[in-house]
Amino acid sequence: MTEMKKQGYFGPFGGMFIPEILRTTFDELIEHYQKARQDPSFWAEYESLMSSYSCRPTPITFAGNLTEYFKGAKIFIKREDLNHTGAHKANNVIGQGLLVKRMGKTRVIAETGAGQHGVATATMAAKFGLKCRIYMGAEDVERQRPNVFWMEKLGAEVVAVTDGTQTLKDAINEAFRDWATNMDDTHYVLGTASGPHPYPEMVSWFQSIIGKEARAQMLKNESKLPERVFACVGGGSNAMGIFSGFFDDKSVELVGVEAGGKGLETGQHSVRLTSSDARIGVGHGYKSYFLQDEDGQMRDTYSIAAGLDYVGVSPILAHLRDSGRVRFESAVDKEVIEALELTIKKEGIIPALESSHAFAGAFREVSGMKKDEIVLINMSGRGDKDIFTIAEAFQDKKWKEYIIQKGEKYHA
Ligand SMILES: *Cc1c(COP(=O)(O)O)cnc(C)c1O
Repeated sequence: MTEMKKQGYFGPFGGMFIPEILRTTFDELIEHYQKARQDPSFWAEYESLMSSYSCRPTPITFAGNLTEYFKGAKIFIKREDLNHTGAHKANNVIGQGLLVKRMGKTRVIAETGAGQHGVATATMAAKFGLKCRIYMGAEDVERQRPNVFWMEKLGAEVVAVTDGTQTLKDAINEAFRDWATNMDDTHYVLGTASGPHPYPEMVSWFQSIIGKEARAQMLKNESKLPERVFACVGGGSNAMGIFSGFFDDKSVELVGVEAGGKGLETGQHSVRLTSSDARIGVGHGYKSYFLQDEDGQMRDTYSIAAGLDYVGVSPILAHLRDSGRVRFESAVDKEVIEALELTIKKEGIIPALESSHAFAGAFREVSGMKKDEIVLINMSGRGDKDIFTIAEAFQDKKWKEYIIQKGEKYHA
């Protein structure tokens, strides 16, 4: 990989470190993306489709019971869980799908770890009539059978990648390899605000619909902006989406919450922006903070939330951290499960394990804030998908019996 151009930098982060062969297809993508950005009819079509096919604008919910419980700032929740397929990922895939149409391409590929981005991409491909192939580490295919099932039913071909550790990073490499041989008709639908230029900027642009809506909704409903906005940080797309609505509002503090896993001291975490296990480096086509050892080898990452289990992080967020505009915290699995349980019981809302990191980060701080202050939490997705993991974390006996029974039924 060589660096192609001095494009797409955010401070020292970002860039495009791609194989020479992909240059023309990147140039084409950048050109179409920039055209779309300058064309108001593109955004209008995007908003219109998101309102009829997904659930935009997603509402903001006042969490009255949680507010009462913590006796501090008022808690509001931006409901990205109400999107089609249950998370903010719909914003990105539909946006890229519209771009694919404009480019006249007929086939899409994507990488996926936990399978959520794969399901979202396969959904978009079905809707737009595109051929679709999803690359997934063989290990992840085994772990995420329900998502693989839906991708296949949606008409996508799921390729189990058996290289390396058989997880997300191997799937990313394989997707780039496919792209290099099928550039003419194929677009790579990258799943988050990372990767080479223009992906960090482009994905953030599609996700900015969250922040645009949220800012207007706060002003309309509460006649003021929130004091603090919380979002969980995997690759960085939902955080970029909500934060970008408030970048120019200096009174609004933006807080990103990373996956502390089993604790920083155990090494089993995915904390790139506030841990000494991370260093600046180049990986997956861009420059940012990566979890790596002294020799620059990528480390294994861990999180109870599959969507936060990633070794790198958006170069835009890396820059916003260094410039001080966004504060970063982390939450460990145990607090995340507690925050999830409390939110379910108090509000009748089931956040995804990823989103529960944002809730945990906010819960830590709300009691220390004033009653007329407002905290806004971005609920990136719903937790239904996490039923296996959550049931295990709650040590639910009846669930365990149910799984055993199901297994026995298939054995018989
Ligand atoms: C994929 C996912 C994330 C992590 O991705 P970002 O790009 O960091 O937003 C967070 N929440 C949910 C529900 C997800 O599915």
